[in-house]
Amino acid sequence: MRKKISAAHWKMFKNTKESLAFLDEFLPAIAGHDRDDILIFPTATSLSTVIDRVQDTNVRAGAQTMHWLNEGPFTGQTSPTMLTSIGTTHVLLGHSERRLYANESYEHVNLKLKAAIAHDLIPVLCLGEMLADRQTGYTKDTLLAQMGAALANLPTEKAQTLVIAYEPVWAIGTGSTATPEAADQAHAIIRDDLKNRFGPVVASATRILYGGSVKPDNVSSLLCMPNIDGALIGGASLDPGALAAMVKYKI
Ligand code: PEP
Repeated sequence: MRKKISAAHWKMFKNTKESLAFLDEFLPAIAGHDRDDILIFPTATSLSTVIDRVQDTNVRAGAQTMHWLNEGPFTGQTSPTMLTSIGTTHVLLGHSERRLYANESYEHVNLKLKAAIAHDLIPVLCLGEMLADRQTGYTKDTLLAQMGAALANLPTEKAQTLVIAYEPVWAIGTGSTATPEAADQAHAIIRDDLKNRFGPVVASATRILYGGSVKPDNVSSLLCMPNIDGALIGGASLDPGALAAMVKYKI
């Protein structure tokens, strides 16, 4: 049995004060809920404060990106050791908005992923096809190419903690959620590729999250699918009541 993950991705929303106000409402609402893992990815300026605030709760906090080197002349970047020094446990890598607006390639993601694992940060690797890929029948090819580049030369023993988020780009922030069947099919492709790469044990243990317009009214139908091990939630995670409701989805 894979423990499911509910992950909130706040993108460039919520300053430190707003993050704390969110937690004041959210934490009591999910207290004692240990069925699933709960993650929050706040902005870089709020991360340290959020980590301190969720200590002694069942919530963990992660960074939205990082560089692969520990230090250097890289303006605006944050390194793996800077993240671990404040108690960060997870890092999102390869989110489509980073690929689109920050020119991040899967070759960069590969370097970041290896650096994260080397520093005991749990990478949440984001993958997903564009609408044109889906419409022209290239979803599988796209996912396999992204997996191939992001996971190149990663030895099996390093793949144990990996989390993957399947996020079809056409579903992010659009309200066009993938159907549970389409999402499950994409997850099955990813799991099959994990099996070819790392063997059946890693493939069956790896959590694969779905992201793309997850809301309180569709979360249960997605999370009851056999290959969907949780949700990465953007817009709908900004409201503490909505996130608490999604964390406590019923099957
Ligand atoms: C995301 O950006 O990771 C995401 C899933 O966003 P949304 O839930 O708003 O589609």
